[in-house]
Amino acid sequence: MSTSTDSPQVIQTYNGHPTFSCANCAATISLQDELISKSFSGRDGRGYLMHSAVNVKVGRREERSLLTGVHTVADVFCAGCNDRLGWYYHQASDYAQKYKEGKFLLERERLVKENAWKLNE
Ligand SMILES: [Zn+2]
Repeated sequence: MSTSTDSPQVIQTYNGHPTFSCANCAATISLQDELISKSFSGRDGRGYLMHSAVNVKVGRREERSLLTGVHTVADVFCAGCNDRLGWYYHQASDYAQKYKEGKFLLERERLVKENAWKLNE
């Protein structure tokens, strides 16, 4: 066995656990256990606040004015198809928003929920 887990672009899977996958290319993006809140607003609709995400690329950090104030964020892209999935919170200027730092906001429309069972194709 010679598997390397150094690269963040290594495709990870979670056998037997419900996950969120990219709606475009079906790459695994996060465990459903990593979900913090479903009641966030993304750019195009509802967003999910997640503890972590895999198989994603994080873009350039920039300051952005969101509904809850100015945040330093970076767009997050799917490593499989380069679709924009949401953003990553580097920093929040407002103390009340600090809990978001180091978390991911993923657009609900860009994700599909995968349950642990498999359908026959
Ligand atoms: Zn994708």
